[in-house]
Amino acid sequence: MSVTAPAPRLHWIVTTHWVVRSLAYPCVLIFLAIHLWEHDPPLLAWLLLAVQFLLYPHLVYLRARRAGDPRQAEIQNLWLDSFLFGAWAAWLGFPAFISLTLFIGSTVNSAIFRGVDGILWAIGLFAAGALLGGTLAGWPLQPQEENWVMLLSALGLSIYLMGIGVLAHQRTLALRQTRESLKVRESELQALNSALSERLHDIERLQVELREQAIRDPLTGLFNRRYLQSTLQREWARCQRERAPLCVALLDIDHFKQINERYGHGAGDQVLVRLAQLLSDSIRREDLACRYGGEEFLLLLPGMGVDEAYERAQGWRQAFAALEIWVNGSRLNLSLSVGVAVAPMHASEPEMLIHQADLALYAAKAQGRNRVVLAEPCQASP
Ligand code: GH3
Ligand code: MG
Ligand code: MG
Repeated sequence: MSVTAPAPRLHWIVTTHWVVRSLAYPCVLIFLAIHLWEHDPPLLAWLLLAVQFLLYPHLVYLRARRAGDPRQAEIQNLWLDSFLFGAWAAWLGFPAFISLTLFIGSTVNSAIFRGVDGILWAIGLFAAGALLGGTLAGWPLQPQEENWVMLLSALGLSIYLMGIGVLAHQRTLALRQTRESLKVRESELQALNSALSERLHDIERLQVELREQAIRDPLTGLFNRRYLQSTLQREWARCQRERAPLCVALLDIDHFKQINERYGHGAGDQVLVRLAQLLSDSIRREDLACRYGGEEFLLLLPGMGVDEAYERAQGWRQAFAALEIWVNGSRLNLSLSVGVAVAPMHASEPEMLIHQADLALYAAKAQGRNRVVLAEPCQASP
């Protein structure tokens, strides 16, 4: 399958120059013809005149259209204009107004398109053309012109320059409009951008909230059981690496069902929240407090040995019992039981550590509640 390359875009200057040449060249032809009539030129001169001022505009336009780079081809057309105009001016003996019209016409065109560089090129090529035309014609010098020719040349040149001015004005206007609409688009884009970054910020905030919600217990704000699972594995590995103890304390409120039954579910919730607060306020930065079940709380205490863990558990038990929670004028009678297990003394793997603390808690309940019980030493432990 053959792929055809896209046609090169026709530069606006190519079309504009075609229109300008198509209109201006026949006008030049008129006053040149009037001028030549006086001198009774040969047929060849009329023929050349027709080719230059009637055919030439379309020939160079077609050339630029077909060129690989139409813009570059049009620059060459401008150089050709200057060269041929120079040749005509010299061949005709430099008639004053006609030469001026040809010179200014070609130079202004190049100046608009190529700036100072264009003027220099146009002058140079006009001179080169004049050299050729003058040499071919034997350097005649006939600057005088008929009044009609002078008038028509001046009029043609004036109209031409005014046309160029209007064209430049239209281009400037179009450019200004484009710049203004670009500015509007830019401010619209900026507004969209800031709205987008606000939305992004909201999404990020929601994501953080969602992540928090996924690992927190909504009532107490403590970590949930799911979060404990991942942390326990990590802390277990770390303590093993550092040869440090890892302690688990499992707390369970005594006769909590009775509190619910006697004082209502709201009172029960209040007790849970106050215990959670007590625990959060008294643990170290490296500890983890989580709500393990309904009224069961688990504390993961890395690096804490048996004695210290026992002391801390006694402290929580006493602090909980000392909490003043009043419901309907009566103070709640609160107590809790704690089972404590410490690795590696009581367990050789993470799940076993929690199981051992659970067994100790069960023993605390069995022994009459409101107490702290240490786990039984593990058989497999060193
Ligand atoms: P024990 O001394 O043996 O621990 O007795 P208990 O009554 O505390 O234990 P049990 O497991 O029989 O009762 C726990 C109760 O906790 C049952 C359940 O209704 C209540 N509970 C669980 N979650 C919540 C909660 O989020 N809010 C309230 N108010 N009560 C809860
Ligand atoms: Mg329980
Ligand atoms: Mg209980």
